[in-house]
Amino acid sequence: MRTRNACALAFLAMCSPLLAADFQAGVARVKITPPTPFWMSGYASRTHPSEGVEQDLWAKALALRDPEGHQAVLVTTDLIGLPRAISDEVAVRVQERFRVERSQIILSASHTHCGPAVRKNLAVLYDFSEDDRRRVDAYGAELVDHLVEVVGRALEDLAPARLSVGHGAVGFAVNRREPTPEGVKIGVNSAGPVDHDVPVLKVTAQDGTLRAVLFGYACHNTTLGGDFYRIGGDYAGYAQAELEKAHPGATALFVMLCGGDQNPNPRGTLDLALQHGRALAVEVGRVLASNPRPVRPPIRTALDVVSLDFAPHTRAVFEEEAKSEDRFRQRRAQLMLAAYDAGQPVRQTPYPVQAVRLGGDLTLLALAGEPVVDYTLRLKRELPGENLIVVGYCHDVMCYIPSRRVLQEGGYEAVDNTIYYGQPGPFTETVEDVVTAAVRRVAEAVGLRPGAAPGTGGRP
Ligand SMILES: [Zn+2]
Repeated sequence: MRTRNACALAFLAMCSPLLAADFQAGVARVKITPPTPFWMSGYASRTHPSEGVEQDLWAKALALRDPEGHQAVLVTTDLIGLPRAISDEVAVRVQERFRVERSQIILSASHTHCGPAVRKNLAVLYDFSEDDRRRVDAYGAELVDHLVEVVGRALEDLAPARLSVGHGAVGFAVNRREPTPEGVKIGVNSAGPVDHDVPVLKVTAQDGTLRAVLFGYACHNTTLGGDFYRIGGDYAGYAQAELEKAHPGATALFVMLCGGDQNPNPRGTLDLALQHGRALAVEVGRVLASNPRPVRPPIRTALDVVSLDFAPHTRAVFEEEAKSEDRFRQRRAQLMLAAYDAGQPVRQTPYPVQAVRLGGDLTLLALAGEPVVDYTLRLKRELPGENLIVVGYCHDVMCYIPSRRVLQEGGYEAVDNTIYYGQPGPFTETVEDVVTAAVRRVAEAVGLRPGAAPGTGGRP
C-alpha cells in the first residue's frame, strides 16, 4: 500500500507571507488509564497486575490543516506500543468518519513500561486467565474508541494557529548496549552512540497563547523497573505534566524518537523518573521561550509499507525451542509452530514508513517498531539541511529494528527481543537498507531529497 498526498509546489509561490503562515490547529486529549488492578507491560519479570495509579495515562491528538485543506493528525499515547490490529482499526474508522487518509495520521506510543498490556503487543509476556484476557480485550476495544474520539475532537477544535520549531538537548539518555566478554548485555555503554536532541514544535493561537507543544526524545521510558507496580507514564509522563502545569490550557504531547537502544541513566526510582521528566520539561520550556523558527504550509504526507525479512528458520528450530525450560521461549515456539501448522510460517513483517512535511521547514518521519538510535543519526546525515524529527514506535510496535551494526553485534535489540515479541528471530542484514530506502521514497514523495539545499527554515 502506498498513498501520497503531494501539494502543488506552485501554491507556495502564490501565497503572501502572511497567508502562508496560517495553519489551522486543533488539540484534544482523552484519559486512557486502565481500570486497576491491570496487567502492566514492558517487563517480563512482573508477576502480578498493577497496584494502583501513580499518574493518569493520556491519548492526545494534534490536528493540523493548511489553507488548501491538506491535513495531518498526530496522536500520542502513554502506552508501551500500539499493535497493527489497533492502529489499522483506528485508521479505517478515522478515514470513514473524518476523511483523514492513512498517510495523514501518525499513531505513536511513548513506550512507558508502567502502562497496561495492550492487546497482542508483547503477548508472549503473559499467561492470561480467561478473565485477564477479557479485560485486556475490553481495554483494547475501548482504546480504539478513544483514539477515534480524540482525533475527531482535535479536528473539531481546528482554529487559526502559528507553528514554530526549535531544538534543545538533555543528557540523561545513555546507550545501553554494554559489550562484555559474553557478548552485548543491557547495561551502560557511555561510549555508544546517543542522540540527545530535543525537537520542539510550538503551536500558538493568533494572539500568541500557547495551545500545544510537541516534543520528543530518543530514550526508553524505563526509569522505573519491573519491581514498580503503579500505572504511570515514566519520565515522559512527568515531562508532559510539568509543561501543562507551567502552561495552563496548553497540551503537551511527547513522541518517542529512535531510542530502541537508549535507557535513562541513572534509573530505578520514582524520584529519578521525576528528575528526568523535569529536566526534559525545563529544556522544552527554554526552547519555547527562545523564539523558535516559523513553520509554514503546505502539509504534505506519504506512507509506504515495506516488508522486512526474518532470517531463514525451520520448523525443527521451534520444535526444539518448545522443550526449553524458559516459559517465554516455550510460548514463542508454540506461536511459531502454530504458524507452521497453518501453512504460514512467519517469514516477514509488514513495516510502515511515513513522512509528514510542513513547508520546507520541518519533516516528521514516523517509523514503526523500536528503531535503534543509528537510524536517526544516519537519516540526519543523509537528509541534512532541514528540521528532521525521526519518531519511532509508530503504527505497529512489532519488535526492535536493529541497524546492520547492531544486528552484527548481537544482543537483546538484535535477537532476544524477538522471543518476547513473538517473532521468529533476527532480521536478515538487509533490514537497515530496506528501512532507509523506504524512508528515502517517502521523503522524496513529500519533496525532501537527500543532500537537498536547506529549506528557508533549515536547521543550522
Ligand atoms: Zn523497548
